[in-house]
Amino acid sequence: YDDRDGLIWMDGAMQPWREANVHVLTHAMHYASSVFEGERAYGGRIFKSRAHSERLRRSASMIDFEIPFTVDEIEAAKAEVLAANGLTDAYVRAIAWRGAGEDMGVASRRNPVRLAIAAWEWGAYYGDARVRGARLDIAKWRRPAPETAPFQAKAAGLYMICTMSKHAAEAKGCSDAMMFDYRGFVAEATGANIFFVRDGEVHTPIPDCFLDGITRRSVIDLLRARQIQVHERHIAPSELEGFEQCWLTGTAAEVTPVGQIGDYNFEVGALARQMVEDYDRLVRA
Ligand code: PMP
Repeated sequence: YDDRDGLIWMDGAMQPWREANVHVLTHAMHYASSVFEGERAYGGRIFKSRAHSERLRRSASMIDFEIPFTVDEIEAAKAEVLAANGLTDAYVRAIAWRGAGEDMGVASRRNPVRLAIAAWEWGAYYGDARVRGARLDIAKWRRPAPETAPFQAKAAGLYMICTMSKHAAEAKGCSDAMMFDYRGFVAEATGANIFFVRDGEVHTPIPDCFLDGITRRSVIDLLRARQIQVHERHIAPSELEGFEQCWLTGTAAEVTPVGQIGDYNFEVGALARQMVEDYDRLVRA
């Protein structure tokens, strides 16, 4: 992703794509002091754009730094990035981090806080799984307990075990991994939330130790608009066998039906397909 044409917004100004670099002694690279957003623009409009900008600032404050740009400034920067790169349907990545500077220890009060925003075309995150149903492995790593990390922050530090779990899954021919939480309840995939269907009702893990996704909240609203019961609750692994349908939600993943988790199979059923369609309609409305 580093060697291409285009423009990336950095700290208030556009930079040529290839020159949007940071120093190796960047605090964030050593100590994971960074937060980010994944957003999608549809027909020139970023879905829930403000909610993403607000979450970015909130994530930063949860890991103890303040982004030196307001929500309005971030909104303007995102629009500028899309326009400068001639994009209308694109993935938008904003990232804020503690930079390089005076400090090189764990503490980083004197280093500047940086912000960059890039955008590029990114098709279906799980490829043709939206039709077939994605195959998921079961991750060996678990979402950490709430008192071990600020789980509501979309912070880079929380993704180390996600990358490891996703690599292990791909090595087995799966698209992603489903992670349990620190108690052993079903949590989420490595970059998306998870939903299940049984007897016409929907069950989804309560987000008490992982990100309560913006897509997750939108899909719950779409289900309730269709008078479908949604239960946000703890889901034990023993329940996987009894669920008929399953799907993932996330900005990149959108709504992606799941066909298999480990040894458990799910049908790409009517409700899963309905949610794919409802979400597609919503983001383009
Ligand atoms: N969980 C994780 C770990 C994620 O990375 C994402 C993607 N941001 C989500 C859930 C879904 O969040 P959203 O719907 O806000 O994109």
